[in-house]
Amino acid sequence: MKIACVDCATLYPDEGAPFRCPACGGVFDYAEPLRWQGDNPARAGLGQFERTLGSNLCTVSMGEANTPLVASGVDSRKVYFKCEYANPSGSFKDRGAAALVSFLLSRNVSNAIEDSSGNAGAAFAAYAARAGIRATVYVPESASGPKQRQIQSYGANLISVPGERSRASDAAIRAVQDGAVYASHAWMPQQIMGYSTCAFEIARELPTEPGAVFAPVGQGGLLLGLALGFGALRDAGVCRSLPQLIGVQAAGCAPLAAAWDPSNARPTASEGAGTVAEGAKVEAPLRSERVVTAVRESGGTLMAVAEEQILPGRDSLARMGFYVEPTSALVWPALTTLLPQLPDPVVAVLTGSGYKAGLH
Ligand SMILES: [Zn+2]
Repeated sequence: MKIACVDCATLYPDEGAPFRCPACGGVFDYAEPLRWQGDNPARAGLGQFERTLGSNLCTVSMGEANTPLVASGVDSRKVYFKCEYANPSGSFKDRGAAALVSFLLSRNVSNAIEDSSGNAGAAFAAYAARAGIRATVYVPESASGPKQRQIQSYGANLISVPGERSRASDAAIRAVQDGAVYASHAWMPQQIMGYSTCAFEIARELPTEPGAVFAPVGQGGLLLGLALGFGALRDAGVCRSLPQLIGVQAAGCAPLAAAWDPSNARPTASEGAGTVAEGAKVEAPLRSERVVTAVRESGGTLMAVAEEQILPGRDSLARMGFYVEPTSALVWPALTTLLPQLPDPVVAVLTGSGYKAGLH
C-alpha cells in the first residue's frame, strides 16, 4: 500500500525506515484505503491476514491476534469483550509490533529504538527479541514497575526518563538524530496497519455485524486501525456499514475528546494532574485530525470519563472475570453511559492486562 507524507505527499522511500518525512518532518500515513483480500484462518497470528496486509508485515509472529471475544451481560444487554490482553506481551500493541518489526526486518534494520508509556515498549521489546533486533526503549520514569521489568526481561536496553511522558519521546528523537532507527509505534503507520486485524476478527466472530465498538484512546492508533479494518470490510461488501467507533479518554488528559467537543475540555486541570490511565496519557496526539475524522465517518463519538470512575470500572470488569489495567477500564463508564442508545451488537476492546499495572 502506498505510504506518503500527509503534509507534502512525499512517498515513503523504498529503502531505510524513516519514522517521519525527510523532506518536511510530517507524519507518514497510508495514502489509499486498505483493500480486503480475504483471510486464511489456518495460519496463526497476523499471517492469517497476509493477503490483506502484505507479506512484509507478517514475517515475525508469536501467535498474536485470535484473542477471545467473550459475551457478557451488561444492564440486561449482551456486550462482547474483545480480550486483547491475551496477546503474547499482554496488550493489543502486539498486533502493531508484529507488523512494525516485520517491516523493520524487511528493511534490514538490526538496531532500533522506541518510546512508550509501557505497553508499546513491551510489545516492541518482545518482537524485537523474536526478530533478533537490538532494542532500546525510552519510558517515562512514571511507567508502571511491571512494564519496565517486562521490557528489560526481553533484553531491551531500558532508559527511564524523568518528567512528563513527552520527554521520553524527545529523548528518543535526540538519539535518532545521532543515527538510530526510531521504530515509533506512534509515528510509523505499519503499527496502525497491525491493529486493523482486530476489526477483521471482531467482524468474523460476531453473529451479525457490529453496531458499536469502544476503545481507550491515547494516540488513537487502535481506533484508526479499527477504522481502517472496518472500512476495508465495508468497501469489499463484507459489512454493510461501519460500526460506531467510540473512543474513550480520561478527563485528566483528553485532547481528542476536547477536539471533538470543547465542553469536554477541563481547563481547570493543572498540568500534570494526570490519570491512572497511563496508556492514554498523550498530551498531543500525532494524528488528531485523522482520529476525529474517522470517528465522525463512523457516526461514533469521542468522550472523556471522570478520573474517579476509572478504578471502579476496573473493579467492575474484574468482577465479571476480566482482569485489565486501568487504561483498559476507561471503556467501562463510557459503555454503561452510552449503552442504551447504541445498536447491537456492542463490542468493548479490553486492551491491556491487569498484571502490568502498578498498585492502585
Ligand atoms: Zn513531508
